[in-house]
Amino acid sequence: MGLFTKDIATFDDLFLHQLQDVYYAENQITKALPKMIDKATDPALKGGFETHLRETEGQIRRLDEIFGLLGQEPKGVTCPAIDGIIKEANEVAGDIADKRVLDAALIASAQAVEHYEITRYGTLIAWARQLGQTRAAEILQETLEEERSTDEKLTAMAETRVNVQAELAPA
Ligand code: FE
Ligand code: FE
Ligand code: FE
Repeated sequence: MGLFTKDIATFDDLFLHQLQDVYYAENQITKALPKMIDKATDPALKGGFETHLRETEGQIRRLDEIFGLLGQEPKGVTCPAIDGIIKEANEVAGDIADKRVLDAALIASAQAVEHYEITRYGTLIAWARQLGQTRAAEILQETLEEERSTDEKLTAMAETRVNVQAELAPA
């Protein structure tokens, strides 16, 4: 933008910026998930990541639809938060030898991603409603429900099996 203006002037601008942020984040997640699928050993965890990769592709299509409703071209802006969460996930995974411990770490990393998404979509829904973007709010709500359900499935996998197996790794 101009030398004396800031990019975000209005609440509408802020809403658009946040959509662009989550658009970037979802695209980064579609690049990160195939690596997590490769690293995962537990079949249900692997399958869960595969399911969520397909869901994430659908979430990007939903965002495309919302950009369309706003008369905007789909575009991302760098989200340093998701970049940081993914970087940390890769660093930790790279330090783990035992497959069972690695699965527990992958779940923890994936849940950090889901929680970031849950906070972002929660805010976007509130802002869309305030701005009278009722249809956008409904579409965003569908994605929020997928993120919440993914988070809950990860908790269940961790607590019923993956953490129990991780504890068996020899010192
Ligand atoms: Fe997502
Ligand atoms: Fe962000
Ligand atoms: Fe997600």
